[in-house]
Amino acid sequence: MQLKKEIKTITLKDPFQQFKEAQRVNEIRYCPLTGQSTRLLGLSLKEFATADRSAMIEESQKACPFCPGLVQALTPKFTPPFREYYEYGNARCFPNAFPYDENNAVVTITSQHYVPINGFSHQMLQEAFECALLFLSDIDPEQYPYQSINWNYMPVAGSSLVHPHFQIIASSTPSNYYANILSNLQKNPNLFMDYINTEKNLNERLIEIMGDSTWLIAFAPRGQFDILGILHECTPLHTVTGKLDSVITYIRKTLQFFHHKKIDNFNMAFYSVANNKSFSPHIRLCPRVTFPPHATSEINYLQMLHNDSFTLLNPEIIAEEFKSFHFDL
Ligand SMILES: [Zn+2]
Repeated sequence: MQLKKEIKTITLKDPFQQFKEAQRVNEIRYCPLTGQSTRLLGLSLKEFATADRSAMIEESQKACPFCPGLVQALTPKFTPPFREYYEYGNARCFPNAFPYDENNAVVTITSQHYVPINGFSHQMLQEAFECALLFLSDIDPEQYPYQSINWNYMPVAGSSLVHPHFQIIASSTPSNYYANILSNLQKNPNLFMDYINTEKNLNERLIEIMGDSTWLIAFAPRGQFDILGILHECTPLHTVTGKLDSVITYIRKTLQFFHHKKIDNFNMAFYSVANNKSFSPHIRLCPRVTFPPHATSEINYLQMLHNDSFTLLNPEIIAEEFKSFHFDL
């Protein structure tokens, strides 16, 4: 597989260099799985905007519908054939009151109202995933094959509540992301293994190949960077019960890495297509950031209206930083 990119050189008279002619070199990279393009801007960014959220976190606890005591009274219950709700350890699964799809549940990861980005234990995440899988395993995978476990962590990432929670979807309709990959899988059923092997040979963004999964920094990130874990076995999500140790370990590593980079908002999606033997379940974690000095959104016309992503960070440098980071698990 050839990883596709275009280089664009822009010449201008640069006010930061006494209006001498200067060049900016941008890259347009195409995601090997979806085909979607990402622009790597030839700029350097020292750091993202940071915010003190302690007052907001404290205020949000006063009437949190996901906290023990209120969760039973303020969250919906499933109708048969589902159980009214699902529990696994401290995790609890119930319907999303504002659903995006036919089967859209919420899983509170823990009864703890606020967990800092680097504070999620293996047990917390394991209980949350297993709870999500209890719900998914009660859904007909043929009728609703597009299964995903998603996470908006904190408001900049789109979460309306501070209390950490997953959103689970099992749908009869593919999202655009699924549709793009399924279209590419028709041309190349070996797409996922080809991508993994290409990254292995190049060794520029690969982090680790484990027994059951491969971890890398995405060639064409969807956010400022994009940690991508691909499971080697093409198995639907509802059947991975008890097999998520490496996924949980890498989520925890990623969250520690985000914390190290002063990132405290992120999105996660763990995708599978239950009735497709070529679609490898995989997970993406993307930081959500704002830019100083005005906490400017990273979502502008490019992503919103042109369906392109952009990044100010070089994926190869992020891969080096991630590999040399000392994790405390
Ligand atoms: Zn809460």
